[in-house]
Amino acid sequence: MFKLFKKYLKPYLAGVIAGPAFKVLEAIFELIVPLIVKNIIDIGLNGKGGKDYILQQGLILLALAIIGFMTTMTCQYIACKIAAKYRYDLDKDLYHKINTLSLKDFDKYSVSTLQTRLSNDVLITQRGVAMLMRLLVRAPLILIGGTVMSFIISPRLGIIFVIVGVLIGLILFVISKLSLPHNKRIQKDLDDATNITKENLVGARVIRAFNKQKYEKNRFNDTVDTIEKESSHLAIFSALLNPLVTIIANVGIILIFYFGASFVNTGSLTQGDVSSLINYMVQISLAVVVVGDLVVVFSKASASSLRINEVLETEPKIISGNEIPEDQEEIVKFDNVFFSYHENNSYALKNINFSVKRGEVIGLIGSTGSGKSTIINLLDRLYDISEGQIIVNGINIKDYDLSSLRKNIGIVHQKSSLFKGTIRSNLLFANKDAREEEMYKALKTAQALDVVLNKENKLDSVVEEGGKNFSGGQRQRLCIARALMKNPDILVLDDSSSALDYMTDLNLRNAIKDDYKNTTVFIISQRPNSLKYANKIIVLEEGSIVGIGKHDELVTTCKVYKEICDSQDYKGSDSHA
Ligand code: ADP
Ligand code: MG
Repeated sequence: MFKLFKKYLKPYLAGVIAGPAFKVLEAIFELIVPLIVKNIIDIGLNGKGGKDYILQQGLILLALAIIGFMTTMTCQYIACKIAAKYRYDLDKDLYHKINTLSLKDFDKYSVSTLQTRLSNDVLITQRGVAMLMRLLVRAPLILIGGTVMSFIISPRLGIIFVIVGVLIGLILFVISKLSLPHNKRIQKDLDDATNITKENLVGARVIRAFNKQKYEKNRFNDTVDTIEKESSHLAIFSALLNPLVTIIANVGIILIFYFGASFVNTGSLTQGDVSSLINYMVQISLAVVVVGDLVVVFSKASASSLRINEVLETEPKIISGNEIPEDQEEIVKFDNVFFSYHENNSYALKNINFSVKRGEVIGLIGSTGSGKSTIINLLDRLYDISEGQIIVNGINIKDYDLSSLRKNIGIVHQKSSLFKGTIRSNLLFANKDAREEEMYKALKTAQALDVVLNKENKLDSVVEEGGKNFSGGQRQRLCIARALMKNPDILVLDDSSSALDYMTDLNLRNAIKDDYKNTTVFIISQRPNSLKYANKIIVLEEGSIVGIGKHDELVTTCKVYKEICDSQDYKGSDSHA
């Protein structure tokens, strides 16, 4: 936790010192109060001070209270301000970090834990910062100051303060040790609960369709139940703190009365001395109870900061090179590529070899899970390969400047979605400087012109979250138009015409061929029909290539390809083409 605080509070060092400094002032004023009360008793009441003296001391007390109030407010103000700045800086860094994480890291963390880390965990540490500044110095100061004052008043009774101090310190230590693991587990369970909630909201239709409401409710309840159990353990610890501290302090007070009385009788102490000792003991017990809250907040903040640090310290695994190559005839080459999504797992792709010339159309076909999308993920360097090399334009993609690599590859992913905004904002997402005529060109090629023209607001028609106000086919065509906006060297359509009818699919392929002549196109499809005119079809099975060639060759030489054709009752003639 202190690592995180050190890093993010460093720029505000002046405030971090000033805030608690005001708190120190307040604590000092507070420690003076029992001394004045002692004077009122010893000099005002029992001595010859009289009414005037009491009034005068009373005014001093009032002044101390007012100054104390002002110093406290100043400290609160500084603490809040710095905590807000802390959060702003941390948020900025976290967002930046998350944007540089590789997909492998996303697989590792899952979106819901990133969500909790970004919101809940940051909030908890922010509260920690504010508490740190407001309370951390005050309580020890009162504890130590009170003890020192007691020694000044009566060294013999001071021993009681030392014993009380040590006992309370022990209790605090044990309680904070015990609560840390519970806090960690609660945070983990909160992640799970968020995850389930999210799945439920996103999959609401599916859950109803399968009548799984009860099952989902139980799943959620289980997680929430464990959170409840852990939280009640925690509550027991913090509930124990208050009475324990009060008992110890009260025993201390009884001891002061007991020994104090005999010392007063022998004349070695005054009544005022005993009263100020008791005041100090009360101050200490009150200050320590507040520290109890601090312990809870800190143990939470420490669990949260571990989780925040974990994200901040994740080194981006995909490191950009700096080469920006010239255009080459051979645009893509996979050279003995092996890849697995997780270390120690079996390979998702094995021994992949193929090469592609500029302007060619490449088909990728194979059953689901055969590795088609994986090839595309590797080409875009969303993941780094385990063995072999991938060459684009004559240069290993690891040496590429990442942004120039991705600028040249336009991918329409299998599950592409649109962003909330307008059609225009979605197209500009791919190329922020594009002119309107470029947008219409891309829309025309993507067969999406009618989608736009039929809308009243044309390019400014609203797109809802994920594009859910469009049909599957309309969404696919808009996504294709978005990818074309990059004017990419390589265009990849990952099963992105699956929701289109045969005619539109055919028109789309022809339009791409005519309008983007120099663009190399990868088409992933389940339909041999869509791939018939590809220059090369790559047939995948269980992560390996089992056939490369033109349609006509593959039908006779590749068993897997022939089976796919047969399964779709493909007659070998395509009346549309
Ligand atoms: P296809 O696109 O041909 O249907 P994929 O390339 O998506 O197949 O998947 C190939 C294999 O890799 C499958 O066995 C799949 O389970 C696995 N896989 C895909 N994505 C991931 C991922 N993010 N993490 C782990 N395994 C994955
Ligand atoms: Mg796929």
